[in-house]
Amino acid sequence: MKPETLAIRTQYERSQNNEHSVPLYLTSSYVFEGAEDMRSQFAEETEGHIYSRYANPNVEEFINKLALLEGAESGWATATGMAAVFSTFAGLLSQGDHVVSSRSVFGSTHKLFTEILPKWRITTTYVDYPSEFEDAILPETKIVYLETPSNPALELIDIEAVAKICKKHNVLLVIDNCFATPLIQQPLKWGADIVIHSATKYIDGQGRTLGGAILSSHQIINQIKGFARHSGPALSPFNAWVLSKSLETLDVRLERHCNNAFEIAKRLEAHPAIEFVRYPFLPSHPNYEIAKKQMSRGGGIVTFELKGGIEAGKLFLDGLEMISLTANLGDVRSIATHPASTTHSKLLPEERESVGISEGLVRLSIGLEHIDDVWNDIKKGLDF
Ligand SMILES: *Cc1c(COP(=O)(O)O)cnc(C)c1O
Repeated sequence: MKPETLAIRTQYERSQNNEHSVPLYLTSSYVFEGAEDMRSQFAEETEGHIYSRYANPNVEEFINKLALLEGAESGWATATGMAAVFSTFAGLLSQGDHVVSSRSVFGSTHKLFTEILPKWRITTTYVDYPSEFEDAILPETKIVYLETPSNPALELIDIEAVAKICKKHNVLLVIDNCFATPLIQQPLKWGADIVIHSATKYIDGQGRTLGGAILSSHQIINQIKGFARHSGPALSPFNAWVLSKSLETLDVRLERHCNNAFEIAKRLEAHPAIEFVRYPFLPSHPNYEIAKKQMSRGGGIVTFELKGGIEAGKLFLDGLEMISLTANLGDVRSIATHPASTTHSKLLPEERESVGISEGLVRLSIGLEHIDDVWNDIKKGLDF
């Protein structure tokens, strides 16, 4: 079956009630058949649920479906995207290990690299281009990490090129695939080892729940489970149920997100108040060739810089009437943010510049509203 169909028809086995849609299993624990069943499940000799920090039918349904869409053998779902990022590092790294990362990563991931992982003497080297990854790999490097497209700069990295370097040096390649989702980009097919998602964004897509996921081989997921089962970043059954339902509509939502965003990007590029626009499928994007190679659509995020820098950026946000000023993205509602004063405000201006965030950069997450209404509101912001 095609991915669009798998996202709808992959479903947990029906219960004795023959429900059509998956029921919600709100239970913290599960009963055993007897003392021997209980012993063997705890000994991991037989499969069972035991306790919802370990496993839950709704969580399993969600993660198994996502694994299928990413082409992964296995997966582990977490309470947030950051819990997925941290569980990956905590499960796979030891004291003294080293990470090589693309420079342009999510703000909290940057905090992990610079302030939290160093507590265990795990250090990170940031690099910019595929060619630099090889030079940065040390004998103690265990993970190469990258975000493509990156948040918010929309920088793209050739996954296949970096995967070849990683294979050569026996280092795991981890990709944060949040902006693309598996219906636009499947990093494992290009040679990556692990895919991470913040399911809070496009996978929920309706701004309701937080969630995260890690997709990889059985062997790697088992190693991560060893950390996650006992440290407790488990996804709640209710959120898993919401997220699994959301996967059913991901493809149709993405179609509208991407069509709207591409059209908005083209209109912005033609507007005299704009310094530059970034959108992966615009030929003016510096990594356009990479976008065409590894992404099937351009995604729902458009960033742009106004002539007039930071002040013009703020006036733009204040001129909007419909588009929400909020921190989320990938929602049905269009959203505008100013990264330099919000998500990336803790970085120094030169650090921001090095990750492609100019002071007046505006990030638009284009929603599912009618294109005319989105554009009319953007024009209100531009006509300050
Ligand atoms: C939001 C986001 C995260 C973190 O996800 P949460 O669900 O907010 O914890 C990680 N990576 C990227 C690219 C994101 O946009």
